[in-house]
Amino acid sequence: EQTVQRIAAGEVVERPASVVKELIENSLDAGASRIAVAVEAGGTAGIRVRDDGVGIAEDQLEAAVAEHATSKIGDIDDLDRGVSTLGFRGEALYTVGAVSRLTVRSRPPDADAGAEITVDGGDIGEIRPAGCPAGTTVEVEDLFFNTPARKKFLKRTATEFDHVNTVATSYALANPDVAVSLEHAGRETFATEGNGDLRSAVLAVYGREVAESMIDVEWTPGDDEIDGSAESAETLESDDAQPVARVTGLVSHPETTRSTREYLSTYVNGRYVTASALRDATLQAYGGQLAPDRYPFAVLFVEVPPGDVDVNVHPRKLEVRFDEEPAVRSAVETAVESALLDHGL
Ligand code: ADP
Ligand code: MG
Repeated sequence: EQTVQRIAAGEVVERPASVVKELIENSLDAGASRIAVAVEAGGTAGIRVRDDGVGIAEDQLEAAVAEHATSKIGDIDDLDRGVSTLGFRGEALYTVGAVSRLTVRSRPPDADAGAEITVDGGDIGEIRPAGCPAGTTVEVEDLFFNTPARKKFLKRTATEFDHVNTVATSYALANPDVAVSLEHAGRETFATEGNGDLRSAVLAVYGREVAESMIDVEWTPGDDEIDGSAESAETLESDDAQPVARVTGLVSHPETTRSTREYLSTYVNGRYVTASALRDATLQAYGGQLAPDRYPFAVLFVEVPPGDVDVNVHPRKLEVRFDEEPAVRSAVETAVESALLDHGL
């Protein structure tokens, strides 16, 4: 049974970053206003996520780490509606516990004492009292200690940390109202203020130069027709149901391209995704304005009517495909283009 459990877990938990993603999503679901992520050795040796959310009552702790335990899905329709935790559907803590030494320590704000539970390679331990602040702390040590084959796939510390950083960054930017911080080997990588301002979150993550160069993107279909240039709007489907409702966010000035790699964070209906269509469209919008091998910084939120465009999301992957990809591509390109145009670019 444990072997089956480990194999399954090895397939869903790819690397430290996938654990961090699940833990941050849990903290967001718990209504946290602060989420502190700390990792050791790129997350391979240790991961700790602490939040100030609703917490887990002592008598619910065991259920939280058990198989198919979720307090979130009311009925099966929730799955189709795309509830915030598409991740493991009640299996994140369970699967992580199968391939690591997991500790969940929690205290709901109204409880006067906290409690913790540990899972050691799938073995669920006793519940013990624990002194802790209100909220939840999840610690994951020695990821894949009992799945050597999976452990072999892990890359260098720097590479694993890079993935962790990408995940933490994308959630920090998508949730500017939550103070998100990331620490590696005791050193702070970034800490957002949680004041609700996207530009302030960008400042915390990418620094002043980038933040100050950021240009607002704010586009809804039809905007261009008002401008009298119906050309790009025409490339959108002209059905009643517009496949893209809105594109908002920030993109960097073409000259602020200190990056030789991409810093593009894209979200569809609030969910962090990667999609080559979104990436290509963003780069396309800059036209020839970027120096060779240079990339812009972009944080873009694309809203699509849930029923109108099928966003094919693999529950555990970030990559999405759109049924109406040309329309989505064109909307993003137009949105970024008109933002740049507004700044005479
Ligand atoms: P899911 O998030 O899909 O429900 P998980 O395995 O990630 O499944 O979590 C199991 C349960 O543990 C959650 O449904 C929730 O009740 C509880 N839980 C996990 N993390 C937290 C947290 N940070 N704060 C409060 N409750 C949590
Ligand atoms: Mg979860």
